[in-house]
Amino acid sequence: MSDPVLRLRTGIGYDVHRLVEGRELYLGGKRIEYPLGLLGHSDADVLLHAIMDSLLGASGMGDIGQLFPDNDQLYKNISSLLLLQKVGKKLLESGIEILSIDSVVICEAPKLKPYISDIKNNISGALNNLDLDRINLKGTTTEKLGFTGRGEGIASEAVSLILLPLKKI
Ligand code: MG
Repeated sequence: MSDPVLRLRTGIGYDVHRLVEGRELYLGGKRIEYPLGLLGHSDADVLLHAIMDSLLGASGMGDIGQLFPDNDQLYKNISSLLLLQKVGKKLLESGIEILSIDSVVICEAPKLKPYISDIKNNISGALNNLDLDRINLKGTTTEKLGFTGRGEGIASEAVSLILLPLKKI
């Protein structure tokens, strides 16, 4: 498979967490000022979870539930940036190059725009200083429809494109 096109793989990631009182809100490793936070075993960073699943999916490595089980005390309240670092290391060790990550955070509030630059820097830092122009991040709403529209939770989707290593014969 010396033709690079044949070594391209895409992966999708999707995640949802419930918004509750008494938790801090983290999106893309950034602490966001908001009266509610996301509920989960780790810091429940819905964006990073979607991104990790897209990277693992593209790499044929399963998903974050397999890698970081939510019944493992090791991962209780852990920063998802650390988990993303572990995923990045796993890909790097396999000779996989991340070509692009596109992602979207779906919620009525808070607005993501003021945080996008910081979040992209966080993601780059966790992924061996991945070029910032390979990372894209968007926010959208569902026009007040559904659970995201009612502010009950935040959803996120991500798509990654990776290049598998040249297999040595
Ligand atoms: Mg999750």
